[in-house]
Amino acid sequence: MTTASQNQVVTDVLVIGGGMAGAFAAITAKEQGLNVTLVDKGTVGRSGATPWAVGFGIFDEKEGLDRDKWIANFRSSGEYVNNLDWLDQFLDESKNRWEDLVAWGYTNEAARHPSLVLRDKLVESDVKLIERTMITTLLTQDDSKNNPVIGAMGFSIDSEEAIVILAKATITCAGAGAFKAPGFPIQGQTSDSDAMAYRVGAAISGKEWNDFHFTYVDAPASCWNQWGGMWQMITGKTTDIGATGVSLNSVYSIHTGENMTSDTAGGPSGGQPSGGGPGGEGSGEGSGKGAASGPSPGGEGGPHPDQSRGEQVLGAAMGLGIHKAEGIWPTSLQGTCNLPGLFAAGDALASMLCGSAYGGGGVSLSGSAVQGVKVAEGAVAYAQQADEPTLSEDAIASLQEAMFAPRERESGFSPAWVTQVLQNTTFPYFVLLVKHEDRLQAALSTITFLREHMAPRLIAKDAHELRLAHETENMLLNAEMKLRASLFRTESRGTHYREDYPARDDENWLAWVLLQKGSDGQMTVTKEAIPDDWKPDLSIPYKERYTNRFPGELEFLGLA
Ligand SMILES: Cc1cc2nc3c(=O)[nH]c(=O)nc-3n(C[C@H](O)[C@H](O)[C@H](O)COP(=O)(O)OP(=O)(O)OC[C@H]3O[C@@H](n4cnc5c(N)ncnc54)[C@H](O)[C@@H]3O)c2cc1C
Repeated sequence: MTTASQNQVVTDVLVIGGGMAGAFAAITAKEQGLNVTLVDKGTVGRSGATPWAVGFGIFDEKEGLDRDKWIANFRSSGEYVNNLDWLDQFLDESKNRWEDLVAWGYTNEAARHPSLVLRDKLVESDVKLIERTMITTLLTQDDSKNNPVIGAMGFSIDSEEAIVILAKATITCAGAGAFKAPGFPIQGQTSDSDAMAYRVGAAISGKEWNDFHFTYVDAPASCWNQWGGMWQMITGKTTDIGATGVSLNSVYSIHTGENMTSDTAGGPSGGQPSGGGPGGEGSGEGSGKGAASGPSPGGEGGPHPDQSRGEQVLGAAMGLGIHKAEGIWPTSLQGTCNLPGLFAAGDALASMLCGSAYGGGGVSLSGSAVQGVKVAEGAVAYAQQADEPTLSEDAIASLQEAMFAPRERESGFSPAWVTQVLQNTTFPYFVLLVKHEDRLQAALSTITFLREHMAPRLIAKDAHELRLAHETENMLLNAEMKLRASLFRTESRGTHYREDYPARDDENWLAWVLLQKGSDGQMTVTKEAIPDDWKPDLSIPYKERYTNRFPGELEFLGLA
């Protein structure tokens, strides 16, 4: 391959990713009079998780909702590892974000896909949009001790032109990631943000928690079976949140051989207190009360007529973490992290708005909007006092060479093949859903081998395969993070179930797990205790403190 041409952009604020979080972040920064550039791997309004969501949950005391009850329900459904400061921010701001969307032209009757309102507003605001461009690398200042982030590098997936964006502040809103689970509409989400940030030294958290999205036994690879009606995004103002809690029952019962009925096998499930807070009913975000019906620009909505449903099985989005509880570890409510100049919002941020399980349908989408605005405010303040970013030509050339390396190799492994091996290693339910040290170690051994021996030898025939090569590397890193975090947390809590440690351990694990690259290049795993006043009342007997049961839990504790 000949040396790719290069496009250089200088901007005040760079936003990576144009879903709900990125759109709100870019629009907010632009409103403050800054020069703002937004880059997306796909097309804004059509990529990421945002276009697939249905309910936009808001909290509104005027509608009779009880703030204390919401907080109590979030705490218990998240099993006490939520961040209550981020929750406060959400409760204060979610309604305002809904009103923004309406002011920008969102309407239930829109013939176009509702998420395109975000794109329209970005264009109207004069945010510089660069689409179909994959960011692969965060840029850090030469010779600087504290490693400030000064922009990012990537390439066009059409022309293969390299792009270098120097920015005073960089906000990543690149969403979450999984392992390209078949049939689930987040194939483009491959944890790029976590991987890029980790490589330059950011701390990452929340990797042991599991996504709650279900599929059904009769058609497990069919997203449509579950998500009929998903084109009705933000069609109703949510005044109550219906769906919550994660039922791992079906997974456990596959494992134990029991019937796949909801009450037999136990595990954290719905059944949180009802009455105005997130809790209690429904089985997925699409079924929350906020998921009002509306026109369906992409089709009629509803399940495909040929598809029966059968019992629900967790794991449609295999490998995805809980929204708003997995990603870059924040050091403030404005999405700063341990690297100056780098900010994160939405699914790219481990805000722990939801803790070990999803707090309530609809809060992800609105949570991304709320965080986008708040984080942009922090990034704007930072950019206003930051120096012009500079990076030597040598540094740029060497990073660019690394980015295009898969195009230069004449032999090696195809990203598609490595991804298949990765999927075969992580998809079985007994690896990341029903966990055990032996199986986690076995998977980790395969994943580290792939990362060390195959990732450096990935080959790409064209720009599309170059994208796949980078995505594969990012997914491998994500798999390693998920396995190491799962091994480290030697208890069960929320959506993290360890067969060999089948009970909560409040003495040791009212804590968050942090992953970071050590000075020797190896992944370090540490924990940070949650503040004492966020803990549950430890004087309440265990069986009353936690009413949802994990299989084997009471026997393990001697309480059976
Ligand atoms: C099927 C489904 C249904 C859901 N239903 C609901 C619901 O009803 N209610 C609710 O509240 N939540 C729901 N969620 C969750 C919700 O959609 C997400 O939490 C929310 O949309 C996240 O927004 P975001 O902006 O943080 O990320 P995303 O919307 O995922 O946006 C990330 C953006 O970053 C871009 N990107 C990724 N990597 C790169 C890269 N390397 N370079 C450049 N750009 C990149 C992507 O193309 C994408 O546009 C659902 C999720 C799914 C998958």
